[in-house]
Amino acid sequence: MRDQITALKELQKIDIDLKEIEINLEKFPNIISDFNSEINQHKESITNQKTALSDIEKEKSLLESELEQNELSIKKSEEKLFEIKTHKEYEALQKEIAEMKRNNSELEEQILQMLEDLDINEKKIVEDEEKLDSKETDYTQKIEEYQLQIEELKVVHEPKIAEKNKILERISSEVIPIYENVSSKNGQALALVVNELCTGCNMNIPPQLYNHILTEAEIHQCPSCKRILYTTQGE
Ligand SMILES: [Zn+2]
Repeated sequence: MRDQITALKELQKIDIDLKEIEINLEKFPNIISDFNSEINQHKESITNQKTALSDIEKEKSLLESELEQNELSIKKSEEKLFEIKTHKEYEALQKEIAEMKRNNSELEEQILQMLEDLDINEKKIVEDEEKLDSKETDYTQKIEEYQLQIEELKVVHEPKIAEKNKILERISSEVIPIYENVSSKNGQALALVVNELCTGCNMNIPPQLYNHILTEAEIHQCPSCKRILYTTQGE
């Protein structure tokens, strides 16, 4: 039975390695895709900001040409003032000119506000582009590192499985299901007995069972955590 325990210990060791390899083979591609989607979100946000910026620019140039048109109208009306004969007409036109001027100063304020907004937005875009640049550099390097690790894991994965299969050949077909059952529930299927205690769950091993374990005649499981028990005797 000692050779069974030896093989089981090797099996457990290789299973721990395999589990780590398999977890990382699943985890690393997800990390890479998270990096990529963060970069894409950042790019999309910049694109949206640029669209908003060009919308403001379009609206500003519309207001500017409106302002220009209005100024021409004001000029024409002001020239007309000299040709007017009646006081009533004169007053009416003056009122109209004042109204147009008021309109224009509102337009000017709007344009000024837009210039301010454009300035703020342009600075924000430059800032964001710089951030994106350094993020891309950083993430590209990280992605390369993860890809390298994935390649390395793939290289060792298959040989580890082959190695595991070889170990399995040395273990009796009755013991394998016990091992698999316990390891699927408890992670590690083996537990060392120290001072008549199961190191898997810290339970006291009854003396009679302990003596049975020492004889190494068959596989024994901890009554509490069901792990396969072994001692260091003879090592
Ligand atoms: Zn136990």
